[in-house]
Formats: sequence, structure tokens, C-alpha cells
Amino acid sequence: MDNILEVNGLVKRYPAFSLDNVSFSLPEGCVTGFIGANGAGKTTTIRSILNLAHKDAGTIKIFGLDAEEHEQEIKDRIGIVMDGSYFYNDLSMRDMKSIIAPAYSKWSDADYRSYMEKFELDPKQKISTLSSGMRMKYALVLALSHQAELLIMDEPTSGLDPLVRSQFLEIIKEYMKNGGKGVFFSTHITSDLDKIADVLILIDGGKIIFQQSKDELLDMFRIVKGSAALLNDQNKNLIKSLKVSSYGFTGLTNQVAEVKKELPDVLLEKATIEDIMLAYIGGDNNDR
Ligand code: ATP
Repeated sequence: MDNILEVNGLVKRYPAFSLDNVSFSLPEGCVTGFIGANGAGKTTTIRSILNLAHKDAGTIKIFGLDAEEHEQEIKDRIGIVMDGSYFYNDLSMRDMKSIIAPAYSKWSDADYRSYMEKFELDPKQKISTLSSGMRMKYALVLALSHQAELLIMDEPTSGLDPLVRSQFLEIIKEYMKNGGKGVFFSTHITSDLDKIADVLILIDGGKIIFQQSKDELLDMFRIVKGSAALLNDQNKNLIKSLKVSSYGFTGLTNQVAEVKKELPDVLLEKATIEDIMLAYIGGDNNDR
């Protein structure tokens, strides 16, 4: 399988933050979720990939082409959803579309109209009067209307209500069906990942923590629950995010066979993406 996007040794330094040698690759045919806490470096990575932030080191290849040398060709072949701040507020969506469409060699007015209808957007409405969710929907319509082979999106579902979010996820599934495509999107909404991601990349403090198939990741981890009296200094090391209370302990393990051997009397349950993410970035899941 070919890689549709390859990031190698990416460094971007800000005064108080750096992307530290970020490397990952996106195989064709996969929806990849890019996850991490606030300030972890997701937007900076996406902006560097798109040449919107000037990188200090590293190489980025999209469709096998160097992202700086072939910027024009690449931008013609990708759909981008960032915050809609590049729209002209005084224009209607129809007029904004007329400016954007000629920039793409494969623009389809039929696709544009069909997505506008699906998302219930009125082309005559002025951009300054759109709610943040409507702006996001409009950005999605534009990204999907020029036969893009790769969609790169920064938190595309964050401002969407549950109905539109579910429509969006269906549209992404539909988009992937045509083959030869890829989707890379950052999100905080782990239920979106449950529904559509094939691969997950976790970033923390500007470093990539893992890139892994979602199914493999969910297979690897289990929540462990049991009586606190079962724990000792050795078997404690098998458990991440360990929390002990007077009722017992709970934690997460990726050493399931060892836990079964060393702690035969504990309960093992399926973990969620959120559990796994929190175990890696040291957060606390109070809902559990
Ligand atoms: P969130 O989930 O909150 O959107 P993020 O993972 O997208 O976070 P980034 O927006 O990439 O995080 O920010 C990473 C760090 O880089 C933050 O500490 C931020 O303050 C810093 N940063 C981002 N842009 C700039 C800039 N233009 N100048 C200086 N620092 C910046």
C-alpha cells in the first residue's frame, strides 16, 4: 500500500513550544485520527504540512511529492478544512465559491450544490452571518467539491451538532468508498474516532507517542479492576493510570497475558480510545 502522506523528522520551533522530530505516514485508503491534548501540537503539525507554518527541519511528502516544491499541484489535489478565517465575511457563500472554484482543476459544481443541500446551507447567505457550525459545514462543502484525493482537517467536527456530525461521518465513509483516498483529521471527540478512524496517531508535547491501527490498539489494552489487596510492588508495574481507593483499584494494561498470570482474580474489560489516550498522556478519566 502506498503512503499518501509522509512526514519525516519535522521540527517547528516556537519560543515556548517545539514539534520534536515528528514522523509518521498515512497509508492510502485509511482514515487517520490525529489526537492529543490541548496545545500538544496538532494544529502546528497540520499547518506545517500545508506550508502555512514555516518548518525548521524535516521533509513532507504528499502523493510522493515534496510539499514545498510541488505546493500548487498538491493543493489542487487535497481538501483542507481549517477554521474558516480565510473566508471573506462580506461575501455570500455563492460569491466566495466563485472565487475559490477556479483555483481547482477538478471543481464540480454538481458536487458543490449537492453538499450545500445536504448540509442545508443557503448559497445566498452572507458569510458574516453564519454560525461557527455553519462556517465549518461550508468549509467541508468546499473541501469535498473538487475531487480531492486527501482531506486534511483540523477539528472538523468540533462546532457541529450531533445530527450534522453524524452526517459528516457518513459523508467521510462515502468519500472513502471510491478508493485511492485518505483522510487525516485532528479531533478531541473520541466517539468520531470510534466510528470512522482506521489508524490513530497520538501526539503529546510536540512528540509522536504512537501510530497504530485502531483495532490493534483496542485489542492490545484492557481495563483492570480488582481488590487493592491483590497489588504488590511488582504487579503494579503492569498497570498504567493506576488508581487505588478503599473499594479497590482500577487501571489500564497492555500486558494482558502477564496480568492474567500475575493477577488471576481481577476483572478485565474492554478499554475505550479515551482510556488509552489518557493513560499515555497522564490524564485522569473521572467518568470511569
Ligand atoms: P488544541 O487542541 O488546543 O487546538 P493543538 O494540539 O492544536 O491544541 P497547537 O495549536 O499546535 O496545539 O499549539 C501547540 C503549541 O504551540 C501551543 O503551546 C501554542 O501556544 C504554540 N503555538 C502555536 N502557534 C504559535 C505561534 N504562531 N507562535 C507561538 N507559539 C505558537
